[in-house]
Amino acid sequence: MKARNPRTGEEDYEFAVTSREEIASEAARLRAAQPAWEAMGPEGRAAVMMRFAAVIEAAAPSIAAALSVDTGRQAVSRIEVQGCAGNIRGWAAKAPALFASLPSEVEQSFTPGVEIVPAYSAYPLFGAICPWNFPVILSHIDAVPALMAGCAALVKPSEITPRFVEPMREVLAQVPELPLAYIMGGPEVGQALIEEVDYVCFTGSTATGRKVAEAAARQLIPANLELGGKDPMIITASADPEWAAGVALRSSIVATGQACQSIERIYVARDIAEPFLAKLVENAQAVEITYPDPSSGHLGPFIFSPQGAKVQAHIDDAKAKGARVLSGGQIEELGGGTYLRPTILADVTTEMAVMREETFGPVLPVTIFDDIEDAIAQANDTEYGLSAAVLAGSMEEAARIGSRLEAGAISLQDGAMTSMVGDAANESRKASGLGPSRMGNSGLLRFLRRQSLIQQTGQAITIDAYAEGARG
Ligand code: NAD
Repeated sequence: MKARNPRTGEEDYEFAVTSREEIASEAARLRAAQPAWEAMGPEGRAAVMMRFAAVIEAAAPSIAAALSVDTGRQAVSRIEVQGCAGNIRGWAAKAPALFASLPSEVEQSFTPGVEIVPAYSAYPLFGAICPWNFPVILSHIDAVPALMAGCAALVKPSEITPRFVEPMREVLAQVPELPLAYIMGGPEVGQALIEEVDYVCFTGSTATGRKVAEAAARQLIPANLELGGKDPMIITASADPEWAAGVALRSSIVATGQACQSIERIYVARDIAEPFLAKLVENAQAVEITYPDPSSGHLGPFIFSPQGAKVQAHIDDAKAKGARVLSGGQIEELGGGTYLRPTILADVTTEMAVMREETFGPVLPVTIFDDIEDAIAQANDTEYGLSAAVLAGSMEEAARIGSRLEAGAISLQDGAMTSMVGDAANESRKASGLGPSRMGNSGLLRFLRRQSLIQQTGQAITIDAYAEGARG
């Protein structure tokens, strides 16, 4: 299979798709290694995971270099690799105490004479199917707590961004006791993975998430889905408009808007709308694309080639239905890459695709509201429920409004914090996901199956207890 370079547009990388037989043999190898891994206990596993993090840190320049070709961005690639190592260290430090906090005392059952001894065991083989927008972080975000729980892990990165896997396999070779493997390819490899594993975590689009959930249902395995979003930000009349403009812009355009938790709809109170929009446009116009110099500027190219056309279609549809473009608005083809400067849209309506569908680009549609109740209703008028944000004059006001938004994670007095705060438990709502939170304690605990050892301390029950006419 070939992969396209998002800066040059050239298919300059070739990789071997993992065959069905290879997937089965990798799964069998991992299954064979898993009992010893689980038997090491949380402290033993944590020690190995700390070494894994250290080897990643030592190899960070080569991983980040490959990742920056995959994604067309340098700074974010370095941040991703550091973040991945930090995630491993965080879970390794946390897991032993989490295991120790699990109820282990013998419980007296309400059935007379019976005691219950709780026990826990990990799903043997965990699988992850991953997207292209943050390839390193999202290929490990669920695998790391799964490994710490005692599972073996089979990971399928996106076929759009495969280059980082080569240096990661070199890292893995230095930690041979870690039961983790990568398999490569497109949808059919994802489908094959689901047939091999005992638990699947999927991060990607809502459309593919539905297919993964259906396939997991056929296998009768749990599926955790982390899907798309159309995250709203409400800015109230008491917020400082200049500050709000800075927060709104950053929350919408980091990584060229190719982030699930990007702010994709802005609702601003009429009282401050004018200075807010003026500052937003001024800030947006100061943002540079990373072309021609990849080491300067803020916004890199779109990673996935059809993405630029999809984002442009949202902008064109909005314009055709009466939206005004206050900045940006036109994708640029430069040196084989596709770029878009921050695009601010005013006079948007709910008939426009840009207000209903995930755009996944640096586009900020701004709606002015008069009544906060109306703003809350509009923010909740979406099929998605990933995250949201509120900017106000005080934390109390922001919290009051935020608690009424139908989403898993609500940033207050900032925006799009979901991915930056790795231990804020949140469960996505509506079409944005399914299953327990990947963040917070459930990130690990979801991979443990509770078992009960039911101890009969009285007389074992005989068939006579069920004899017709028997008296109790
Ligand atoms: P995608 O759904 O196109 O692909 C994701 C993965 O699924 C890829 O590895 C792909 O090969 C695989 N796949 C495709 N069809 C499959 C099938 N039928 N069975 C099994 N696997 C299959 O998503 P994408 O375009 O790579 O990623 C962007 C999307 O991911 C956006 O919608 C974004 O919002 C979402 N996302 C969500 C989160 C979150 O935490 N909620 C985080 C990042 C990205």
